[in-house]
Amino acid sequence: MIVSQQKPLDEILSELSGMSRLFLVGCAKCATVCKAGGEEEVWQMQENLLALGLEVTGSIVIDEVCHMLRTARDLRSRKEMLDEAEAILVLACGAGVQSVSSTTSKRTIAGLDTKFLGNVRRLGQFEQKCSLCGECLLSRTGGICPVTICPKGLLNGPCGGMVNGLCEIDPEAECAWKLIFDRLSDRGDVDRIKTTIPPKDNSSRKRPGRLKLEK
Ligand code: SF4
Ligand code: SF4
Repeated sequence: MIVSQQKPLDEILSELSGMSRLFLVGCAKCATVCKAGGEEEVWQMQENLLALGLEVTGSIVIDEVCHMLRTARDLRSRKEMLDEAEAILVLACGAGVQSVSSTTSKRTIAGLDTKFLGNVRRLGQFEQKCSLCGECLLSRTGGICPVTICPKGLLNGPCGGMVNGLCEIDPEAECAWKLIFDRLSDRGDVDRIKTTIPPKDNSSRKRPGRLKLEK
């Protein structure tokens, strides 16, 4: 899921530059799990804005704001409230903000900071496991991603800074390559890392990414 965090209210307000009528959009998927832009947070944001004397013309929590067609359709169903607003405050990830902004000529304000693609460890705890590099090598590294878990993204074993299995960048974390070695050893599969992994082909990571499935 996409992990996001609500921006400080002051930062959101600074984007309004005098506008006082807002329509709010939340997301029922990732932003809800992150407690950044679900029903509860949209309601709380509305209360905060009203307390500051701003007007909220309406709100909606869309099932997946990154789904552009669904977002356009759901926003059409709130046309009158949207027409009354001067700006739209979106409590969704950056992809969701762009879905909304493509449907309107009004100012679109990002209410969240989008952090990373994260795994959910438990309620309210997220960990980045994958950096979306576009060329996955997990089958060779015991299912542990050195691109993400190693702060240097090293592909072929640890740097010289590893001390007693701990990372030199984050001494509270185990070195990614120690984790990989231990896991492959446990599986009797350590030969997997005896072959050098070539440098990553950065063309597979080109931006913006596009994928069209064959019918
Ligand atoms: S190798 Fe690339 S695609 Fe695979 S988990 Fe790591 S960052 Fe993600
Ligand atoms: S100690 Fe290990 S995880 Fe840390 S930067 Fe070096 S190789 Fe990467």
